[in-house]
Amino acid sequence: MRLVVLGPPGAGKGTQARRLVGRYSIPQLSTGEMLRAAVSGGTELGLAVKAIMDRGELVSDDVVTQMVADRIDREDCRTGFILDGFPRTVEQAEALTAMLQRKGLKLDAAIELKVDPAVLVERMAKRVADTLAAGGTVRSDDNPETFARRLEEYRQTTGPLLDYYLRRSELVPIDGMQGLEAVTREIERVLAERASA
Ligand code: AMP
Repeated sequence: MRLVVLGPPGAGKGTQARRLVGRYSIPQLSTGEMLRAAVSGGTELGLAVKAIMDRGELVSDDVVTQMVADRIDREDCRTGFILDGFPRTVEQAEALTAMLQRKGLKLDAAIELKVDPAVLVERMAKRVADTLAAGGTVRSDDNPETFARRLEEYRQTTGPLLDYYLRRSELVPIDGMQGLEAVTREIERVLAERASA
């Protein structure tokens, strides 16, 4: 199963992707997490992207696409993967399609989690509060100003991706306003339906 999870920041992409990992026994590949690991590891890549991420802007297509290409070549992605946070631009989506085509593969679905913007801001505030309560470190881009920029970035840059996947009949819109369980169940139901179609 090869999946892409799309949706604005705070839509629950990471949470749903983690739940699908167990269901389909495939790894979750989060470009945001890979980049944050590079930043905290102080690697060359991390040093190059830290300021961009702190501003809530997108890292260049070339850098992210190469990172994903290297990752999906690994053995654990042989039977599939769930990409969370990638693609973010039509260029990245085209690069992913080409990467898969070269291996004779295609996506099973691009899942779009649909959530109202007002709810997203509330969820971000809750993520910060929960992280602090657990004694964790809050993401440097989880503050109201940067979050607003990330939402706008999504609307402008990632919005056209929905059309891209719609045209390819790979888009699966899901109501992300429901509870966690209900969202997972709906994703599983739609994927099963598509697999048997
Ligand atoms: P996320 O954890 O998905 O919200 O990503 C956090 C940050 O990492 C984003 O605001 C971007 O700066 C960067 N990033 C993650 N994925 C991508 C991507 N596919 N393209 C460009 N930048 C990305």
